Amino acid sequence: MILKDEEFGEVVVRKNPLSKGVKFSVSTSGRLAMSVPSGTSEFLARRFLKRNRELIREKLPLADPTAQRARDAKKKILMRQAREYLPYRLEYLAKLYGYEYEKCRLSHANTRWGSCSSNRTISLNIGLMNVPEVLRDYVIVHELAHLNHMDHSEAFWAEVFRHDAKYKEHRRRLKGFSPGV
Ligand SMILES: [Zn+2]
Repeated sequence: MILKDEEFGEVVVRKNPLSKGVKFSVSTSGRLAMSVPSGTSEFLARRFLKRNRELIREKLPLADPTAQRARDAKKKILMRQAREYLPYRLEYLAKLYGYEYEKCRLSHANTRWGSCSSNRTISLNIGLMNVPEVLRDYVIVHELAHLNHMDHSEAFWAEVFRHDAKYKEHRRRLKGFSPGV
């Protein structure tokens, strides 16, 4: 459950069957998180929040909710752009180079640009919309080559090279960007 709070922004409420009381913490994104006993209603959760407002303010290193909202808005825009672009670019390059994949997924992991799973699903990070097109294409070609080689062997890199002769440079340049949004 998510509570919208004037002061703290979106508060993530997790129900924990083992917990007897309420615990406040900070999630990885800097949001306020609460752990409550499983039967807790929204009304009750709000009351806990209200009662502990002072304590939370003093004790927890929360991110500024305005910054959080700005980040969420940016992510939404990026997701929309990615949805209108990445699946089509993937399809285009796959056709061009003769690959067949099963599905395209969009991700927003913080650590990887893309992945290719054994069931031939290719995941592409929406953060790719923030990098130059040649680097985007390099990531797509990299994942397509994984359809034939599920490793980073010499044969794999030789295949990447066939579609992107400058892949070494592209790989290096990509390190200057972060996939996290
Ligand atoms: Zn790889």
